Amino acid sequence: MRSTMMDAPLQVSRILEHGSTVHGTAEVVTWTGAESRRMSYAEVGRTAARLAHALRDECGVTGDERVATFMWNNTEHLVAYFAVPSMGAVLHTLNIRLFPDQVAYIANHATDRVVLVDSTLIPLLARVIGEMTTVRHVVVAGGGDPAPLTAAAGDRITVHHWDDLLAGRPETYDWPEVDERDAAALCYTSGTTGNPKGVAYSHRSIYLHSLQICMPEGFGLAPTDRELAIVPMFHAMSWGLPYAAFLSGASLIMPDRFLQAAPIAEMIAAERPTLAGAVPTIWNDLLAYLDSHDVDTSSLKEVIVGGSACPPALMHAFAERHGIDVIHAWGMTEMSPLGSVARPPAGATGDDAWRYRYTQGRVPAGVAARIVGPLGEPLPADGTSVGELEVRGPWITARYVGDEAPDEEKFRDGWLRTGDVGTLSPDGFITLTDRAKDVIKSGGEWISSVELENALMAHPDVQEACVVGVPDQRWDERPLATVVVREGASVTAEELREFLAKSVARWQLPERWAFIDAVPKTSVGKFDKKVVRSRYADGGLEVRELAGP
Ligand code: ADP
Repeated sequence: MRSTMMDAPLQVSRILEHGSTVHGTAEVVTWTGAESRRMSYAEVGRTAARLAHALRDECGVTGDERVATFMWNNTEHLVAYFAVPSMGAVLHTLNIRLFPDQVAYIANHATDRVVLVDSTLIPLLARVIGEMTTVRHVVVAGGGDPAPLTAAAGDRITVHHWDDLLAGRPETYDWPEVDERDAAALCYTSGTTGNPKGVAYSHRSIYLHSLQICMPEGFGLAPTDRELAIVPMFHAMSWGLPYAAFLSGASLIMPDRFLQAAPIAEMIAAERPTLAGAVPTIWNDLLAYLDSHDVDTSSLKEVIVGGSACPPALMHAFAERHGIDVIHAWGMTEMSPLGSVARPPAGATGDDAWRYRYTQGRVPAGVAARIVGPLGEPLPADGTSVGELEVRGPWITARYVGDEAPDEEKFRDGWLRTGDVGTLSPDGFITLTDRAKDVIKSGGEWISSVELENALMAHPDVQEACVVGVPDQRWDERPLATVVVREGASVTAEELREFLAKSVARWQLPERWAFIDAVPKTSVGKFDKKVVRSRYADGGLEVRELAGP
């Protein structure tokens, strides 16, 4: 029997219409350095219509052509997030922090026709626009001299100013009905190994993923929330927060280019967010700042931390010293990106609840998960069997853009191979020990680099610690601990090793230690272990070696 239900497509324009009418008084706030500029969601709706008209009439965007953004988290980027997919075109969020040749590779691979750029990023775009061979139009948001762009790309491109381009255009647009399975947005992985790979999100996947973000077991967004979206809109769609905000009516606070601890603290005090989302390194820096400055953070109930493992010490410090709950979440670009959120189950209290919060979290109905052994054989979800985590579901990619068939290294029997190693409990909690490529293989045993980092970062004098496997003649690989000491503190390798010995098995304790000024970070702010390993290999680190295991 067929259902009697209407077949209303799940499309981005519906999210826009809902947010800009029902929640028309909610606002997007963009930080400008010392203060904010604001726009209501109703106005975002009107501006999105104007941008769509401009893209169609002046830039000739038709069908599913790609419109790229090269922007910080701000109002104009939000407008593009809605205008481009709603008109049926495909939004491509370029990661401004990738190497220039990677940015050009991605833009060409996606055949981007238009690039929307913040004026503050003109110099960066000028370095690559010459190589972006399919781009014909660049739209500059904000005042600034676009001459470097035309100097680099010549008359292949026409440069427009956002305000001039949008001026006088109609404030409504007859958004077309799209096939909900068509691409709405493109995002490329950050390409830690090889060239970045593209993932095309559909209207349907964005809609379903956004609903999950809003769920209480997700980020629990409500119209009373003000969400500080620090996680970049050019990285995994800012975790879906822009779309979830329009579905739920939560307001958005955008940091633009002000991503250091001091301005973020200022933003929190001035704009009073209730929720925030970012990678652990941002929260780690903010914690050090809050510990030494008097900042009013009383509005913040929760911060979501994901992208790499969150050290338990960071969660406790925020809870105990600042009354803020750090909620751990896990995901991947390939997963839109939400995979799991660590909220303790009913009945868990005290230390038991904390143990749940240390995990990577519980999977929602939209994410089926399994653990597999070395030959791909499924292992029990018993909370102890360790293997690679595989996932599938309606907001998880089944292949990469341009591939005829799923790449066997990343997909198996309809499952996405995450490259993450860990356990799955019967009640759906994932605990990751490491990324497969970062696990340290010492004398046939595995050492989790993350476990050593978490233990080291619990030391009061340690600001950051990054542990990688390095070649060892006797054991194949051994851990190298690179440590950033907190400002004004001093600590020795011997002291840190003794401290580690309290929580880590003796044979896992690193012999090699290096004190460094900062841990190198990837384009999205994660520890860049590849760079640490190659610095070690090139002799670029001053390493102390203590006696072995
Ligand atoms: P990239 O692969 O370039 O870092 P992604 O953001 O897509 O880009 O990375 C996804 C990966 O990040 C996951 O496969 C996992 O290894 C790691 N990750 C994300 N969240 C967590 C977390 N909470 N704990 C541990 N690792 C995480």
